[in-house]
Amino acid sequence: MPGAEPPPRGTPARSGPERVRARYRRLLGDAADPHEWAYAWRTELNRGGFRAAEFLIDEVVAAGKCVGCASCVTICPTDVFDYASEQPVDARGDACVRCVLCAEVCPVLRPVDNDLGDLVGFCEPGSDDGYGRFGEALYARAADPAIRARGQDGGMVSALLIHHLETGRLGGAVLGDVEPDNRQIGRHKLATTRAEVLACAGSRYTYSPNTLALREALRHGVSPLAVVGVPCQVDGVRLQQNSSLRLQTARWYRDNIALVIGLFCSEAFTHESIQRLAALIDVAPERIANINIKGKVVVRLDDGEVVTSSLREYRRWARPACLYCLDYSAENADLAAGGIGRDGWTFTLVRSDAGRAAVEAAVADGWLETSPLETHPRGAELLRKLAAAKKRNRPLPALMPTLDQRAAQGHLDPKTYYTTGPGASSGPAREGP
Ligand SMILES: Cc1cc2nc3c(=O)[nH]c(=O)nc-3n(C[C@H](O)[C@H](O)[C@H](O)COP(=O)(O)OP(=O)(O)OC[C@H]3O[C@@H](n4cnc5c(N)ncnc54)[C@H](O)[C@@H]3O)c2cc1C
Ligand code: SF4
Ligand code: SF4
Repeated sequence: MPGAEPPPRGTPARSGPERVRARYRRLLGDAADPHEWAYAWRTELNRGGFRAAEFLIDEVVAAGKCVGCASCVTICPTDVFDYASEQPVDARGDACVRCVLCAEVCPVLRPVDNDLGDLVGFCEPGSDDGYGRFGEALYARAADPAIRARGQDGGMVSALLIHHLETGRLGGAVLGDVEPDNRQIGRHKLATTRAEVLACAGSRYTYSPNTLALREALRHGVSPLAVVGVPCQVDGVRLQQNSSLRLQTARWYRDNIALVIGLFCSEAFTHESIQRLAALIDVAPERIANINIKGKVVVRLDDGEVVTSSLREYRRWARPACLYCLDYSAENADLAAGGIGRDGWTFTLVRSDAGRAAVEAAVADGWLETSPLETHPRGAELLRKLAAAKKRNRPLPALMPTLDQRAAQGHLDPKTYYTTGPGASSGPAREGP
């Protein structure tokens, strides 16, 4: 384990955050095993801890690398952070108890732990075709046409959640619904009823801070709990559940989150993208009822009319922070869901025993219909391609350039930075982390 080195004689004493930053930088520079990077702050606990929020904000948020997962916000036992503009804000620093949990659970600072399998309970035997471990892959959809009509693809996610709430398998679900005056901007929601799950159904392609609802669940003791989120949120949740520093909040998440459903994700888009898309298709932004991405941008308007637009054009408004993410298929979820392959169905990866039990129960009770992948094999081909594309050439986020450095290079597009952009030649030639 890399230890704390005493400063050379005559060096002025450094503050905790400065010391940790120097140690962290040294570990990155020395090409240490990424799972050892966390020792930069863990060893500081022997000295009584330090204000990790300062280190986190400096190293991740100010660097423009924060993906917005809110993991640091929801783990903090003393509510130090606010959350605004898809980022944590160090709002109540005086309340910090120096536990370093916020640094411990940030997926940008370090990869998820090697021993995560013990927590998740991945299916055995399992496969890994380049998109994470899974026991089974299938198409699924809600048996109820009313739920299907509300879902983004097959409505599998919503049907399974409603089934589990109504049969007492779940007490609540951490989801995202929408701002009342803008249906394309998400906000967190702790859903406990069928109506609330349905209000959240469908996808917003802007970032939705679903996991902020974890705090509400904790405060009100709502459990067992399901969490639905994009891969960065899944990793944030897993880091919180699996933290080696088992303070009360981390323990509660570990004991009470029963099911994590991850959504496939190439990238999310900025709020500005909605105005830009509306201009591209020449409608008022508030007329956009739903956006789906199927090789092109498929927009459903409030009167049911469907208009398509160029994905290449729309991608210009992808969130720059999505560069700092290598996971397309929610590799650490219990179930992963996407809209590739068969139209009107949800491509579903059953990754863990909990995921398998959830799907089997919903199928047995007639809430879900399933169909084998072989009916539309293109789904699996696409998944392999898209998952590989999101890892290609990319080092871990901690080793990537900052947002300012990318801006200076004139290349903020997360999709192409490591394929045809400046990172294509400088990145390590490998497929994964
Ligand atoms: C930002 C984003 C990017 C995606 N990119 C891809 C992709 O590249 N390829 C692909 O195959 N699939 C992608 N998906 C997944 C796809 O859109 C569907 O969510 C998935 O197929 C499940 O469909 P469903 O009908 O079963 O879900 P539904 O029953 O409609 O339930 C969807 C759930 O998603 C949650 N949700 C909605 N918007 C967000 C959001 N912005 N962030 C987090 N949670 C949200 C809601 O809470 C709801 O519970 C993406 C989803 C999002 C949100
Ligand atoms: S990536 Fe997540 S954990 Fe890290 S600073 Fe941003 S919101 Fe916090
Ligand atoms: S691409 Fe990654 S960082 Fe961006 S929203 Fe999707 S999961 Fe999060």
